[in-house]
Amino acid sequence: MLPYSSLQEAETAVGRSLTAAETFWFNYTANMSDYILYCHNILFLFLIFTLVPLFYVLIELVFRDYVSAYKIQPKVKFSVYDNFRCYFDVMRMFILVVGPLQLVSYPSIKMIGVRTSLPLPSLMEIVSQLVVYFLIEDYTNYWIHRLLHCKWGYEKIHKVHHEYTAPIGFAAPYAHWVEVLILGIPSFLGPAMVPGHMITFWLWIALRQIEAIETHSGYDLPWTFTKYIPFYGGADYHDYHHYVGGQSQSNFASVFTYCDYIYGTDKVTIIIYFILVSFLAHHS
Ligand SMILES: [Zn+2]
Ligand SMILES: [Zn+2]
Repeated sequence: MLPYSSLQEAETAVGRSLTAAETFWFNYTANMSDYILYCHNILFLFLIFTLVPLFYVLIELVFRDYVSAYKIQPKVKFSVYDNFRCYFDVMRMFILVVGPLQLVSYPSIKMIGVRTSLPLPSLMEIVSQLVVYFLIEDYTNYWIHRLLHCKWGYEKIHKVHHEYTAPIGFAAPYAHWVEVLILGIPSFLGPAMVPGHMITFWLWIALRQIEAIETHSGYDLPWTFTKYIPFYGGADYHDYHHYVGGQSQSNFASVFTYCDYIYGTDKVTIIIYFILVSFLAHHS
């Protein structure tokens, strides 16, 4: 809720005229509690988990001839029914875990200082904070994901996410409820270390999920703008991790590729390692 009773009061507090975006924000949020603003995330996540994977199902149905060339595992076929079964599994998790987690995590957002006030952040502030959030998420997720591939972690928790050896968009958030909770930590760490505006926070949660869905889409489409992001992993990169499955010791990172390069778990290093080991075993 904004601490101003009128636009004039807001402009006096900011010390200048409000921009069109700020006027819209004022009108939308003036009488809305910060808790309700934060809970917008539930609606955004629901729409993203529903519409973004649906886009991939639709292009497969409508433009099958065109997109089939970009399917990463062309021999694996999922029917519309398979997609919706996955969607309903994800929605059950959404209603039982993701939604309630959003409802009860508000005090932590308040504590770290995510603000809802005016002025709105500049585009530069939003973009630079999002870059920091993605870097922190990627690094932390890399290590948690790698830990989940230990025997116990895989058998008890991570195996569920790997049920899809050829991932689909709807399967991006498909995981054991413990994994859903644990992987909330990397998403939260960035905003906790560099708190920003609620708009930046909404954008962060939305973009992270859209990125995860693209990564699990099963398609390495040539026209995605993410191709121009340095060290971006993408669908091809993470698909290989699912293809290898439980034995996978490579391509752990969620967004970029550099952690796998630095810590020697990228696909190429692992293949060279296994070739060397088998060569030495045969010649010793
Ligand atoms: Zn994994
Ligand atoms: Zn995955």
